[in-house]
Amino acid sequence: MAKDPRETPMMRQYLEAKAAQPGAVVLMRMGDFYEAFFEDAQELSRVCGVALTSRNKDGPDPVPMAGVPHHSLKTHLPRLLAAGRRVAVVDQLEDPAQAKGLVRRGLTRVITAGTLIDEDALDGVAANWLVALTSIDPGPGQPVGIAALDVSTGRFQVEDAATTQALALALARLAPAEILLPDQLRQADGIRERLAAVLAPVALPPLAGLAAFAWKPADARRWLGERLAVAALDGFGIGRDDDHLAAAAAACLRYAESSLSGAAVAEAGADGPRAGLGHVRRIIRLHADEHLVLDASCRRNLDLVRNRENQREGTLLAAIDRTRTAPGARLLADWLVRPLARTAPITARHDAVERLLDDPVRTAVRAALGSVYDLERLLARIATGRAHARDLVHLGNSLVAAATVASALPADGLPALLVEVANRLHPADDLCAEIRRILVDDPPLATGEGGMVRDGIDPELDGFRTLKRDAGAWLADYEKTEAAAIGLPRLKVGCNSVFGYYIELTRAQAERVPAHWVRKQTLVNAERYITPALKEYEDRALHADERARAKELAIFHDLRARCEDRLVAIQLCAQALALIDVAAAFAEVARSEGWCRPVIDESAALAITAGRHPVVERVVGRSRFVANDTLLDAQADGAAVAPGRLAMITGPNMAGKSTYIRQVALIAVLAQAGAFVPAAEARIGLIDRIFTRVGAGDELARGQSTFMVEMAETAAILNHASRRSLVILDEVGRGTSTFDGVSLAWAITEHLHDRIGCRTLFATHYHELTDLAADRSGIRNLTVEVAEQDDDVAFLHRIVPGAATKSYGIHVARLAGVPRRVLSRAREVLATLETLNVGLTEQERPQTRAGNAPVQLTLFAPAPSPALDRLKTTDLDQLSPRQAHDLLYELQALARRE
Ligand code: ADP
Repeated sequence: MAKDPRETPMMRQYLEAKAAQPGAVVLMRMGDFYEAFFEDAQELSRVCGVALTSRNKDGPDPVPMAGVPHHSLKTHLPRLLAAGRRVAVVDQLEDPAQAKGLVRRGLTRVITAGTLIDEDALDGVAANWLVALTSIDPGPGQPVGIAALDVSTGRFQVEDAATTQALALALARLAPAEILLPDQLRQADGIRERLAAVLAPVALPPLAGLAAFAWKPADARRWLGERLAVAALDGFGIGRDDDHLAAAAAACLRYAESSLSGAAVAEAGADGPRAGLGHVRRIIRLHADEHLVLDASCRRNLDLVRNRENQREGTLLAAIDRTRTAPGARLLADWLVRPLARTAPITARHDAVERLLDDPVRTAVRAALGSVYDLERLLARIATGRAHARDLVHLGNSLVAAATVASALPADGLPALLVEVANRLHPADDLCAEIRRILVDDPPLATGEGGMVRDGIDPELDGFRTLKRDAGAWLADYEKTEAAAIGLPRLKVGCNSVFGYYIELTRAQAERVPAHWVRKQTLVNAERYITPALKEYEDRALHADERARAKELAIFHDLRARCEDRLVAIQLCAQALALIDVAAAFAEVARSEGWCRPVIDESAALAITAGRHPVVERVVGRSRFVANDTLLDAQADGAAVAPGRLAMITGPNMAGKSTYIRQVALIAVLAQAGAFVPAAEARIGLIDRIFTRVGAGDELARGQSTFMVEMAETAAILNHASRRSLVILDEVGRGTSTFDGVSLAWAITEHLHDRIGCRTLFATHYHELTDLAADRSGIRNLTVEVAEQDDDVAFLHRIVPGAATKSYGIHVARLAGVPRRVLSRAREVLATLETLNVGLTEQERPQTRAGNAPVQLTLFAPAPSPALDRLKTTDLDQLSPRQAHDLLYELQALARRE
């Protein structure tokens, strides 16, 4: 009878691991491969494109099997994670050559998208957030606790969300790699759909659950206190009333540590990774009101750090990133999506950038930054026992570079932020010297092979090395004497891992073998021998080598432990380096692109002279880009020459309207992020939030109609914008009929201007809307200049006061390559329509009475009135006094409802 393939000892090992990690893809090390079986094999094959084979192929019950070579696990992991899977890695815990029977295997790591530590699987310039949420339904007095941990850098932060909108904002900003929920919530019906709705348009990452006990506030506080070695969490900004924050933080860190905890098993081998995340030492509490709020659609519409394909190309980040280090690039992205909302910290950043405009200082700082490694991620590897000698050498070199940065900064006249940076750039000079003294410049990646430590560091190690070297001389000598003894010109001693040292002779030579040689192995054409003297040598040489390697490992571990002792100081140094990297990058871009320092104040103004769009300018070329001014003021109402707070920009397609309104938003983002801005001059009264409603994106792909999305975004603006907000609207109402569109756009403009009073830029080609400016001093009409000559039209991209008179749609169609025949027909139709004056009729148009009389803004004929209708259709003569009395009441009720 055929044997059940599941019943082999090896498969039992596999199935046990699988049962212990439900939901994870289990990859088991077998020889040089990581293998998966059953459905996991199918998945591995599908996701990673490796061949699907089967074990026990010819039996009645073959087992699907697929594998990846062990050295390419790192390239396959990201694919599995991107497919939303967790991966459990089962390794061989003993050397198969030494194993008696079945090799012992055990779980060494559970890898999830949110707990990645190994650099290969990580995006170098983006944070990788594991986000824990206590719930997804904030209620009155019950805010959601949000904890975010980037295991790869040790950054750990908490914040709360009192409303669903605040939760959506936080999640959009973090763009989590994985979300952790209490088990019960994780298993609730429809949880994926509900979370996806909160996250949209950010894609839903993999979800994980953690048992309820880990979220209990009292336990959470106690556990965190012990884990972070503090008596209370107040020092991290988590106060007595912040149970939800403590719960989220504890769950987050626990989950991350437990996913690495399998690694403890591997620690049997002295150099294995450790489970604890020693580099996570503190929690940072974020407060929403300290930052300029940018929601997900705004971030996307403005292409801040990711474009619509989730890539970096064509974004503001890509256009201005002059950082020299990966932590600098990550911090820059963080600053762009989370600009500041208070003048003092913004000014502090501007001061730092201004100081670094100084060419020699900036050049020296940036040159030194060029030799700084990704210190944050290096520290994570050190703290989790994953660092090898080369990492420590990189650490040493980075610390030398940090000292060079410090010496590039002048001692006097530094702004506060740079003083703070300078104070952190010498975290461990002594340690740095030690690393360079002890380790060779370019040690091997493997820590067990030796070759890491310099000569002359440790007498014992030197002793073993001498022994080994002397042994080498002995061997050469031995070869010579034995060759002479048996009368051969040359004789070679070989070595392999199974037989150790041996002398090899050809069959023909073998006749001369002396009696004290012992035959060890017979090959096709050769014989291998050992001798007592050679055996003795082998013991000595191998022994010395082994002891030398063990000694080197001990020296390395000691050095690594000393690095760990200084972890916090080095972390602060790493953050300081990232900060000065960003400030110097801002200065660099300001210098090379001719940007100016913006003035940030408490006013409600937005005054930009010769502003430019940093991304479009790169595309069309600096000399061809037309700079434009902007002047809005939300407080100057009633002043003699009020600049207005709402600009209505009309003009043909392709004239540059979108570019203009986005450039204003980007300048505001840059200014509040602490950067200089692409303009000759800029003054910005603090903005609390930027709203955008621009163009039709790729929402259709998500199954929502464009118009629905447009209105949802508009609703968010109308409900949440404050007087301090900046609103950017592009073509609102385009997704519906012209009448609907104009009326909605009209009413939205009125609301923004009359009720909210925020600074607004509205680009539209509904010319009707320009009438709104007639009786509202806060609304200004702007248009884009067009040069017309004969039949030719040139868009000058210059924004000027006034309203557009023509659409030039046919002209744009011609530029786009619409066939000549269609164009001339379109011209005919247009001419007919113009003579007939089709479009909004006079009655339907918003009316302006003749002369200077106040404008009447009824867009349509008077709205239908149920009360009047009722009155008109009632025959009064037929009513009794009683009925007349009732009718009166009814009419009043109807009238009140209107
Ligand atoms: P609209 O919103 O009016 O349809 P866009 O803002 O999309 O027009 O601009 C269309 C194109 O015109 C841009 O892709 C760019 O190439 C060019 N453009 C826009 N603004 C400028 C400018 N200020 N200077 C030079 N070229 C510009």
